[in-house]
Amino acid sequence: MAIQRTLSIIKPDATRRNLTGAINQKLEKAGLRIIAQKRIKLSKEQAGIFYLVHKERPFYDELCSFMASEPIVVQVLEGEDAIMLNRKVMGATNPVEAGEGTIRKEFALSIGENSIHGSDGETTADFEIGYFFSGLEMAG
Ligand code: ADP
Ligand code: MG
Repeated sequence: MAIQRTLSIIKPDATRRNLTGAINQKLEKAGLRIIAQKRIKLSKEQAGIFYLVHKERPFYDELCSFMASEPIVVQVLEGEDAIMLNRKVMGATNPVEAGEGTIRKEFALSIGENSIHGSDGETTADFEIGYFFSGLEMAG
């Protein structure tokens, strides 16, 4: 499998509870390298553009408000098969269904406030990384 890059976001429910380091430890232990990272606060409009694919879903408005409610940590992860590996470390969207030891099993509060985002494919990863980072910010 090739070396890939994927976008990860530590969500407001996790930054609020001071879990950035604990989550990063799980990512690094799994073999993912954090090659870029910054803490920012999105406007609701910026969150809305990021999650545009979910525009028709009933939770879209709630999701955008949540993502703009408090600071988030956006990061680029690199590694072998990084996109799928990160999804595995994150666990299922609903923490009740997430496997033992996953980030969402250990830290998520609910299906909405589920602590972490990860790109779901190569095309999405390219768009999502470009949304937050310039090439100069990714030293590798
Ligand atoms: P994932 O983040 O696992 O890729 P989705 O792409 O399906 O999940 O959904 C994006 C985000 O929208 C989820 O991580 C979660 O924060 C929120 N979400 C998904 N489903 C629901 C739901 N039924 N109710 C509230 N929020 C939801
Ligand atoms: Mg998704």
